[in-house]
Amino acid sequence: MQLCVIGAGYVGLVTAACFAEMGNRVICVERDTARLAQLRGGRSPIYEPGLESLLAQHQASGLLSFSASLRGAVLHADVVFVAVGTPQQEDGSADLRHVLEAADELGRVLRKQCIVVNKSTVPVGSAERVEQRIRSALQQRSLNFSVPVLSNPEFLKEGSALEDFTRPDRVIIGSDCPHAGDVLRRLYAPFVRNHERILLMPRREAEFSKYAANAFLATKISFINEMASLCARLGVDIEHVRRGIGSDRRIGTHFIYAGCGYGGSCFPKDVRALIRSAEQLGIEPGVLRAVEARNALQKTLLFQALRGHFSGLLQGRVVTLWGLAFKPGTDDLREAPSLVLLDALLLAGCQVRAYDPVANAGVARRYPREVASGQLQLCESALAAVEGSEALVLVTEWKQFRQPDFAQVRQLMRRPLLLDGRNLYDPAELRALGFVYQGVGRAIQGHCKEEAA
Ligand code: NAD
Repeated sequence: MQLCVIGAGYVGLVTAACFAEMGNRVICVERDTARLAQLRGGRSPIYEPGLESLLAQHQASGLLSFSASLRGAVLHADVVFVAVGTPQQEDGSADLRHVLEAADELGRVLRKQCIVVNKSTVPVGSAERVEQRIRSALQQRSLNFSVPVLSNPEFLKEGSALEDFTRPDRVIIGSDCPHAGDVLRRLYAPFVRNHERILLMPRREAEFSKYAANAFLATKISFINEMASLCARLGVDIEHVRRGIGSDRRIGTHFIYAGCGYGGSCFPKDVRALIRSAEQLGIEPGVLRAVEARNALQKTLLFQALRGHFSGLLQGRVVTLWGLAFKPGTDDLREAPSLVLLDALLLAGCQVRAYDPVANAGVARRYPREVASGQLQLCESALAAVEGSEALVLVTEWKQFRQPDFAQVRQLMRRPLLLDGRNLYDPAELRALGFVYQGVGRAIQGHCKEEAA
């Protein structure tokens, strides 16, 4: 099929590359000229494992191209995917500006019938709105062919996006038009060959399913984090409890890891958008508010722990952060817990030495003054980052942080304090090496308080 994808972000690029991989001809439209130039030069503007080579492969094969012109891109398109951002507005609701702009633009340039698919995460009723916008723009041009708009929410996870797209748990197709639904089903057929995983449903239900899925996953995280706080007080290790409850198939092992909070481009904004929808509908979203509040609290815990260890005297302390991206496998910093911690440390006058395998550059762009003054040093390696440090804080659980040479780390550090924001390490092992260890929802190992220097 001939496809057009509007938006070359995390979702748009993965969608474009994976459909090209199956032999479709895809034109991806991007309006950010710097991003477009990078893509045309064979470089991916985002870090996602395997993506850059797949993009290059299909640009070379001629199946995938990038353009600034929607008019040219939709000329022969059978299906147009809208994969633009839907950030949060001030009141928490989803900002549909980019989606509606894309709809208006489609109405101005379409010359023939095609199917439009909302891949962006959008509130219930958005497909109808987009369809209406396109229809009225076409009518202004005295054109009256129909352009059905479908909802096809995306469930990929950054860090494993290609795998998630090509081997999905399910594909939700929300369509009120049987023919269009069938076209999309055929498009996805190569990804679900061994098992029927396509769920066809009306589009409002598809739109809501995406929000409900993200809200549920965020709820699991905030729930386990609240249990972790109880565990810490009770002297109970949440890691035993996690295994204890995760073995129950009704609960499951996923998304019950205690940690320093969830971030990213989806959970925080989608939970807030759902809260706002509930408010507008006169429903008190008690559960969702609690999920959000717990997560905000969770993002402050590592800083509170550091303050505790240093008896509130943080000015001039050298603190190391391992991991800055909101999760491993991505360079995405949107709503990352690391940023809340960084802000607090810098405000408290700490010297921060940080290392992330791919997100250093993004952090440097966010903190230009602190980098220039030397208060924030972005280091070349995990070991370089701990030199002279008084506290090591593990924020993002990249694989390369799983088994570092802790004897060497211990030697390089000025004080052996380790705060494990992801419960990655064995407390007893670290204690044996002379570290003071504190995880999330587990008892502190070693001497709790460092003497104030
Ligand atoms: P993004 O911000 O990374 O990318 C959006 C891209 O669209 C940008 O490059 C922007 O320049 C471009 N764009 C905006 N309007 C345009 C237009 N009119 N024409 C051409 N280009 C345009 O966004 P993302 O993270 O890919 O998310 C896209 C949507 O998918 C959001 O609704 C998000 O909630 C949802 N989603 C994201 C993920 C994820 O992991 N990032 C997963 C599932 C769903």
